[in-house]
Amino acid sequence: MKLHTQAVHAGDRKKLGDYVPVTTPIYGATSFFYDEVADLDRVLGNEKEGQSYSRYGNPTVDALEQQVAALEGADVALATSSGMAAIHLSLLAALTDRRKSIVAANVLYGQTISLLMDVLEPSGVEIRFDDPCDLDAFEAAVADAKPSCVFIETVSNPMMRVPALDKVAEIAHRYHAAFVVDSTFTTPVLMRPLGLGADIVVHSATKYLSGHGDALGGVLVAGEEFRQSLHVLGRTLGMNLGPFEAYLTMRGIKTLPLRVEKQCQNAAIVAEWLRAHPRIERTYFPGDPEHPDREIARRLFERGQGGEELYGGMVSFEVAGAGKADVFALMDRLKLVVRATSLGDVHSMVLHPAMSSHRDIAPKQRQRMGIGDNLLRLSLGIEAAEDIIADLDQALGE
Ligand SMILES: *Cc1c(COP(=O)(O)O)cnc(C)c1O
Repeated sequence: MKLHTQAVHAGDRKKLGDYVPVTTPIYGATSFFYDEVADLDRVLGNEKEGQSYSRYGNPTVDALEQQVAALEGADVALATSSGMAAIHLSLLAALTDRRKSIVAANVLYGQTISLLMDVLEPSGVEIRFDDPCDLDAFEAAVADAKPSCVFIETVSNPMMRVPALDKVAEIAHRYHAAFVVDSTFTTPVLMRPLGLGADIVVHSATKYLSGHGDALGGVLVAGEEFRQSLHVLGRTLGMNLGPFEAYLTMRGIKTLPLRVEKQCQNAAIVAEWLRAHPRIERTYFPGDPEHPDREIARRLFERGQGGEELYGGMVSFEVAGAGKADVFALMDRLKLVVRATSLGDVHSMVLHPAMSSHRDIAPKQRQRMGIGDNLLRLSLGIEAAEDIIADLDQALGE
């Protein structure tokens, strides 16, 4: 079945008594029981499918997990209370029974760096960073560290670099490391990393999957070999997604393919417009003709339903000669584009990386990463492109 169809049907419409609800209800119950105690005994003993206690499983959350597993072509899915919880669980699953060592991409979501350096390293995990867009350097780092886990993001933020995920998978597997991928920016609409060699894929469901700015959540998917460790970690650490958030996320995912395709179209239109604007020094968008990873994105990203090329819904850009105060004033002039620190929602959003996502990085290091005070990151919504452009135009002036 195609993604557009799976998004609407997978996980839903299970029979309740003699009727079928068209959407899975929100089950607030924390525990479940049976006519006969022997059945609960069998459920707790994993001999029978069923519900017992909501940290072990919940019908609403199960439905979302089935939906995401279908979209990602995965055997197992686990929904979590946030994207960070999903990343933490995925790394713990990758490290189970193995040497405590991770080689990670050198550009990552800020809190992910903090998870690696402030939480995992002090507990004895060796952490090393390298550039997955430089395959030779990355392979040398993996060969040297012989890690149990390699971790990257499908698209780097805010420079929108796209590593050759299939090649990084080969490197990871050559040295027997589990390959964990944060696919928040790509979603299953652009990429299904399990099919390209990833072992575990994580999402901040807060972003594109939910897509409406109203639910914090995460989800990870994997192949059969991780079922047992995810089962144990999921019920032991208690990072569960609540049933209400699961319901909202599932509802959001039904329109995910439509939204992401429109967001990608808007990004391509707005990036082209920004490139031609006299006040814009530079744009960062994988679909830009001179973007260093355009060919990789073209090769790895799925096409839209009409066969059109998709390059993601995110665009970063530098405002020529602007300091922090100029950029803040520009942001304050925006009337439509929301100045909020998230991405992937139906409404367009703009963020100043130096102030928000990359705030905790030393200014010198930030500069080395190319993140200046004049850099802005735009997450395109599903509005009409001309309205987004008109708002940016009036805010840029001239
Ligand atoms: C937002 C984000 C996260 C963290 O997700 P939360 O749901 O906020 O915990 C992780 N990775 C990426 C790429 C993100 O954009």
